[in-house]
Amino acid sequence: MTLVTMKEMLEKAKAEQYAVAQFNLNGVQWAQAILQAAEEERSPVILAASDRMVPFLGGYRVIAVMVAELVKEMGITVPVALHLDHGMKVENCKKAIDAGFTSVMIDGSHDPIGQNIAMTGEVVAYARRYGVSVEAEVGTVGGMEDGMVGGIRYADPEECAALVKETRVDALAAALGSVHGPYRGEPVLGFAEMEQISDLVGIPLVLHGASGIPEHQIRRAISLGHAKININTECLQAWAAALRKTLNADPGLYDPRAILTPGTEAIKEAARAKLREFGSAGKA
Ligand SMILES: [Zn+2]
Repeated sequence: MTLVTMKEMLEKAKAEQYAVAQFNLNGVQWAQAILQAAEEERSPVILAASDRMVPFLGGYRVIAVMVAELVKEMGITVPVALHLDHGMKVENCKKAIDAGFTSVMIDGSHDPIGQNIAMTGEVVAYARRYGVSVEAEVGTVGGMEDGMVGGIRYADPEECAALVKETRVDALAAALGSVHGPYRGEPVLGFAEMEQISDLVGIPLVLHGASGIPEHQIRRAISLGHAKININTECLQAWAAALRKTLNADPGLYDPRAILTPGTEAIKEAARAKLREFGSAGKA
């Protein structure tokens, strides 16, 4: 199957009250583990490269070719989208689209809303020519974002409505208390604002920083319009724990396959659990 955009995926998910998971790529084994998990769970899935990770992963083209070829090589039959996460500049989104990404996020959330709308509009205009889907962000997700550690700033409902109306973007990340990286204590999400924003914008919402958010809050977020949920930290933690255990168990180990395969398995199991939790398992 060739890569698809996330537009149809998310509209179906919203209508049927489940969410499609976005997993971030941190290397080829991540792509393999997540594609296998999605295929085994018969689930649509979004593979994402965070813009600040792109140089580490070898560049936009390497990422696009890697994912497209793995989908073919592995005989993946479920819908897969390749998404740029937290695109830092309009230019970077264009590069990702040119390279073969089927979806991009432009993150103008750190700029004044007028500038955010202008940037998002420019990316949407470019993306439409290639049939690529676009996600935008309003408000600030706490923790690490774009390599900067910051506080939470709730999305303003009127700003969300204005951005969606003026840009016709496909999905919106409205920051409402979630955090990138581990949480200290139970997360506090703004559900009242979530409902208001979902009603105002009408398009699928995206939940960033979902690692560590308890299942009952995830369910509520889905019922209030979230059709895409981003997971990275939980897969990283599962991978790191497996790697540490493998290396500690045998200090003489040097074969990369023996060292890295348990980590890949751990990512896959973590991803499968999320696909079931979000309700997308069996929906492909
Ligand atoms: Zn994010």
